[in-house]
Amino acid sequence: MQRASSLNDNPGAQWHALTSQEVLQAFDSSVQGLSTENAASRLREYGRNELPPGKQRSPFIRFAAQFNNALIYFLLAAAALAALLGHNVDASVILLVVIVNAMVGFIQEGRAEQALNALRAVLAPSARVLRDGQRHSMAVQELVPGDIVLLEAGDRVPADLRLLRARGMLVDEAILTGESVAAEKLESPASPSAALGDRHSMAWSGTLVAAGQGTGVVVATGERSEMGHISSLLGSVEMVTTPLLRQINAFGRRFTVFSMAAAAALLFFAIVFRDYAWLDALMVVVALAVSLVPESLPAVITITLAIGVRRMASRHAIVRRLPAVETLGATSIICSDKTGTLTRNEMAGRHLVTATGTYLVEGEGYTPWGRITDVAGNPVQLSEPGRRLVLAALLCNDARLHVSADKLRMDGDPMEVALLALAARAGMEADTLRSESPRLDEIPFDAQHRYMATLHAKHDGSAMLMVKGAPERVLSMCAHQITAAGTAPLDAAYWQDAIDSAGSAGERVLGFAWRDCAKLTRRLEFSDVQGLVFLGVVGFIDPPRNEAIKAIADCRSAGIAVKMITGDHAATATAIAVQLGLAERPEVITGAQLDTVADSELPDVAQRATVFARTSPEHKLRIVRALQSRGAVVAMTGDGVNDAPSLKQADVGIAMGHKGTEAAKEAAQVVLADDNFASIVAAVHEGRTVYDNIRKVIAWTIPTNGGEALAIVVAMALGMSLPMTAAQILWVNLILTITLGLALAFEPPEPGVMSRSPRRASAPLLTPFMLWRIGFVALLFVIAVIGVSIWALERGLDEATARTMVVNTLCVLEIFYLFSVRYLHGPSFSLQGLKGTPAVLAAVSAVIAAQLMFTYTPWMQLLFDTRPVPLLEGLVILGCGAVLLVILELEKGLLRRLGWFDELQPRRSTDDMASVPVTMGKSTHSA
Ligand code: ATP
Repeated sequence: MQRASSLNDNPGAQWHALTSQEVLQAFDSSVQGLSTENAASRLREYGRNELPPGKQRSPFIRFAAQFNNALIYFLLAAAALAALLGHNVDASVILLVVIVNAMVGFIQEGRAEQALNALRAVLAPSARVLRDGQRHSMAVQELVPGDIVLLEAGDRVPADLRLLRARGMLVDEAILTGESVAAEKLESPASPSAALGDRHSMAWSGTLVAAGQGTGVVVATGERSEMGHISSLLGSVEMVTTPLLRQINAFGRRFTVFSMAAAAALLFFAIVFRDYAWLDALMVVVALAVSLVPESLPAVITITLAIGVRRMASRHAIVRRLPAVETLGATSIICSDKTGTLTRNEMAGRHLVTATGTYLVEGEGYTPWGRITDVAGNPVQLSEPGRRLVLAALLCNDARLHVSADKLRMDGDPMEVALLALAARAGMEADTLRSESPRLDEIPFDAQHRYMATLHAKHDGSAMLMVKGAPERVLSMCAHQITAAGTAPLDAAYWQDAIDSAGSAGERVLGFAWRDCAKLTRRLEFSDVQGLVFLGVVGFIDPPRNEAIKAIADCRSAGIAVKMITGDHAATATAIAVQLGLAERPEVITGAQLDTVADSELPDVAQRATVFARTSPEHKLRIVRALQSRGAVVAMTGDGVNDAPSLKQADVGIAMGHKGTEAAKEAAQVVLADDNFASIVAAVHEGRTVYDNIRKVIAWTIPTNGGEALAIVVAMALGMSLPMTAAQILWVNLILTITLGLALAFEPPEPGVMSRSPRRASAPLLTPFMLWRIGFVALLFVIAVIGVSIWALERGLDEATARTMVVNTLCVLEIFYLFSVRYLHGPSFSLQGLKGTPAVLAAVSAVIAAQLMFTYTPWMQLLFDTRPVPLLEGLVILGCGAVLLVILELEKGLLRRLGWFDELQPRRSTDDMASVPVTMGKSTHSA
C-alpha cells in the first residue's frame, strides 16, 4: 500500500477505485477521524488547505494604471506643449497635478481593496470534521489528508474526498466537469478507468452538494486537489461595477467629449474675436476643459460605495456584490424567514403531548438539568408513550450535546439540541440509548418534505423506524397512535387540537412517529416511511428577537413592507407575527393555498398577505416575481440549497451567515453575519445613506467644476482679463475640489433617513431639485468670482493679486458650500451641521493650510504666480462664503414652503404601511 505522505502529492492516485477501507488504511485514518495531534502534525507537513492567492497587480503597475486615462493624456500633452514653448512653470505645475491626482487615485483604490479583503476573511467557509471521534466545525483551511468530513445539501466540498458513505447524494460538478446535471454519488468503488465526472465515489473540492448527505475521507488538499488550479472559489467577494457607476462613467465619457469640443470652440472665439495671446488662451482653455470634466466623480463614488460596504459589515451585513449597496437603499419590501432571523432560534421544548396526557418541561436554556411535570407543575415520571416519544426525539436527531466541567458544548440544529436537553431532563441517557439502537440509515430533513426519518437496529435482529417532522405531515403517514395499552386508531381531532393550541401560543410544533420493521433492512427508502404509529407532539418556544421588533417598527416608518415567509405552521407564524408587530391581524396564506392561486392573481394576493406559512422554496420564487411585477424592489432572505433561485431573483438576495448553506451564500448578494433581521434594516439604512452621499458628491462636483468654468467663459465673453491662470484653475480643480469632495464619501446618515419613503428604483439620480441646485449654485459661483475680480481691479490691485483673490474666493465658497451640501434634505444650520465630521474637519483644515501656502509662501507664489492677499480683501472673501451659505439656506426654506420639489417635503404618515406601498415605476431586476 502507498504511504500517506506520498499520496497527497499524487493527484492521479486511483482513490476512486479502492474500497473505503483501503483508502482509510492508506491514510492511516479511521471512521473516528484523526487525533488532534496527528492532524496538527499533518497540517505542518502538508500545509494549509488553501489555494495560492491569485496574481495580484504589483503596486507599481497599479500606480501606472492611474495614468491610463484620456484626461491624463490630455494633460500630459498640454504639459509637453507648454515645456516646448518654454513655459516651464506651467509645465511643472501640470505635471505635479497629474502626479498628485494619480497618487490620490492609487491610495483610494488601495483602501477599497483593503475593505474587500477584510470581508473575504469574514466569509471564509467552515467544514464539519470528525476528530478524536467528535464532530467539530473548523475553518476549511485546517483540513488535512486523512480527515473525515461530513457533508450535507448546500455544502461546498472543502477538499477532494473519497466517500465513505453517501445517502441520496447528488453533487453539482459543473464547475469542474461542465456537466450541468448533478452527479449521483455512491460509496462503492468506481472503475479504475472512469473519467473524472464518472468517479462516483469521489467528491471534488469546490463542487456543491445539491442533495443528500455523506461522509468522506480527505485525499487531497489545497493546490493538490483537482480544482487546485481554479483560484476564485473560496468565499469570493466580487468587486464589480454597479449600474450607477456605469451610468456615471458613461456620463463622464460623454461629458469629456463635450468639454473638449466646447474648449476648442472657446479657443477659436478667444483668438479670433477677443485678441487673447494664443498661448495664454490655449493654456487656459486646456485647464478649463480639465476642470469641466468630472474626473474625480467615479473615484469618489467608488470610495463612497466601499465605505458603505465597510459600514454595512460593521453592522453584520456583508456585501458580496457591490450593486447591492445601491439596491438596498431602494428596497421597498423585505421578505424574511422566521426562525433565527425574526426569532432568536433559541429553542426550548416546553410541552409534550401524548395520547395519555400533557407534560411540561422545566429547565434553563439547553442545559440537561431540569424536570418533567404535569400541567399543575408537579414532578412526574413519563408514561410509556411519553418515553417512546422522547426515545424517537433522541434517536431521530443529528445534534450533539456535551457537558464537561459544567461547560455546555452543542453542535447541530437548535431544535434538535433542545430535544436532547429535553431527553436528559426526562432522565434518558443519550449515549446508552444510541449504542443500544445503532442507526443503520436515514432520510435527512429537507424543507421540501418537512420530516426526517432514521432506521435503527434492535437487539432481536429486527429494526425500528423513527420519524419526526411537521406534525400534519407526520400525521398523514399514521393510521394509529400509541396508548398506554398498546396502539389504537388515530384520533386526528385530538392531535389537531393539540397542534392548534400550541401553534396559537406561538409554539413551534414537531410530531413524532415510529414503526417496527419485522426484518432487518439496512436501507431506508421514502416508500418505507408509511403505516406509522403516532407518538405525540412537542411544542417549542422560540421568542421573537427584541431587535427585530424595533427594526420592524423602523421599516414601517421608512415605508418598507415586511413579509414573513416561513416553513412553519400557519398558527405559529401568525402568533409570532403579532408578537413582532408585523400587523395587528396579519393576513396569512399557506403554501397549499398559494398553489391554487393563478399567476395572474398572485401579485394582488402577495401584496395583501403579511405571512406566508408552510411554504417551500419554490413558493419564494413565485412570491418574489409577483411582488416585482408590481415594481417593488424586493429583498429576500434564504438559507437552504433550494433557496438559491429566489435569492438570485430578488433584487437583494440575503443569505444567513450561520445557518445558511454555502449554496445560499454564493447565490446571495448580501450575507448576514448574525442571521438577524435587524441587520437587514441596518443595511437598508446604510444603503440609503450611501445613495444620499453619492447624490451629495454629484451635487458638489458638478456646480463647483461648472461654476469655475462658467466664470472663465463669462470673463472671456465680456472681454475681461482672465480671472485665473491655467495653473491656478488646475490647483482649484484637482487639489481643492477633490479633497473637499472626498469628505462627502464619509458623511454619516442625515437625520430622518429612515422616515422617508423608499426611493423609486427608476428615479433618476439628478432629480428636478438637484438640477435646479446645480444651476443655482453654479450661477452664484460665477457672480462671486466675476464680482471679486472686477472689485479687485477697480481698487487698483494688480492683476496677479486679483487672480490670487479669485482663487481664494473659490476656495472659501467651496468650503461654505461643503457645509451646505451635507444636508440636502434638511437645514444645514445646526450645532451638528456646524461641528462637521472628522472627515470634513480634516479636509477643510488640509485645504485651508494648502491655500495659505498657495497665497503666502514664496515658492508657491513663484510656481502659481500668486501674491499675498491683504486683510480687508481677505475678510470680504470670507464674507462671500458666508453670504453663499445664507442664500442657500434661505433658498432651501423658501422652496420647501413653495412646495415645488417633492423631495424637500416632509414624508406622509405611514401607518397605512402594513400593506405594500408599491406604486412605483419598473425596477431594475437583476435576474
Ligand atoms: P423558516 O423558514 O422561517 O426558517 P422553519 O425553520 O420552520 O421556518 P423549515 O426549516 O423549512 O422552516 O422547516 C419547516 C418545518 O419542518 C418546521 O416547521 C418543522 O415542523 C419541520 N422541521 C424543521 N426542522 C426539522 C428537523 N430537523 N427535523 C424534522 N423536522 C423539522
